This record gives sequence, C-alpha cells and structure tokens, in this order.
Amino acid sequence: MKSNIMFYDKKEDSIRCKLCPHNCILKENKFGVCNVRTVENNIGVAINYGEVTSANIDPIEKKPLYHYKPGKNILSVGTFGCNMSCSFCQNYEISQQVSKSEYIDPDKLIDIIKTVNDNIGIAFTYNEPFMWYEYIYDVCKKNKRKK
Ligand code: SF4
Repeated sequence: MKSNIMFYDKKEDSIRCKLCPHNCILKENKFGVCNVRTVENNIGVAINYGEVTSANIDPIEKKPLYHYKPGKNILSVGTFGCNMSCSFCQNYEISQQVSKSEYIDPDKLIDIIKTVNDNIGIAFTYNEPFMWYEYIYDVCKKNKRKK
C-alpha cells in the first residue's frame, strides 16, 4: 500500500528524497532510482509500505553473522524495489521491478514472528531494507511497545 515518506525536502515542483545517497529529485508521478518512492499531489509517497514479496523462516546460520544464537531461526521478509543494481543480485526478480506482493500490516507481522518456533526476531532482507524504511520503523516501534 502507499504511505507518506520520511526524509525529504520540498521544492517548487519536486521533492529531494534524502533517504539514501542518491538524493533523487522526484517529480509528480516519477520514481526515484529505487522505483518505489515518488510524488503524488506534491507529497512524497512510497508504494511498497507493508508489501511483502518474500517471507521465509531461515536458520540464523544463513545470515552474515558469526556464532550468533546458533541453532535458532529468524523470520526473513523483503519487499520490492532497490536503490542498487548489482549485476550479481540473486533477488533481482523482486529487487529490480514491482513484483507480486501481499500486504501485511505491522501488527500482523509481529504476531507472525511469535508463531515461529525458536525464532529470535525478524530480518528485513532480500532487497536493501531502507527501501521500506517507514514500514520497518512502524514494525520496530510497535514490537518494542508490545514486549
Ligand atoms: S533511490 Fe529511492 S530512497 Fe534513494 S534517494 Fe532515490 S528515491 Fe530516495
């Protein structure tokens, strides 16, 4: 779903997104490098809020961490869009285009985290996580309140 974005400056007929170092100048209905942030009615908007393209329960050993909670699981979720275009991307089908997704609101995602056996939390992964910064922010804030 769509949500208003954080971190941008308004200009006369555009906005400058300040979420990542690209600092894209976004005009009405035109997208930034990431293909998910745009401007609608002179307001910065992201089109991928809560739009989950991939969700998996991974062993923590799949993550780039050394000897962190060995034997535990972590729920991994990602969305579409990315501010990078690495030639070796193994998730290019979701990172480089608007792909099929399912909306999961922050409260529901937090509930899902609790249903996974031996789960230590959630990993925002598969694409650059900042691409749905506002969603991650809401999930983290709500999750902390519920603890
Ligand atoms: S790539 Fe996306 S997140 Fe980065 S500055 Fe451009 S619009 Fe913002």
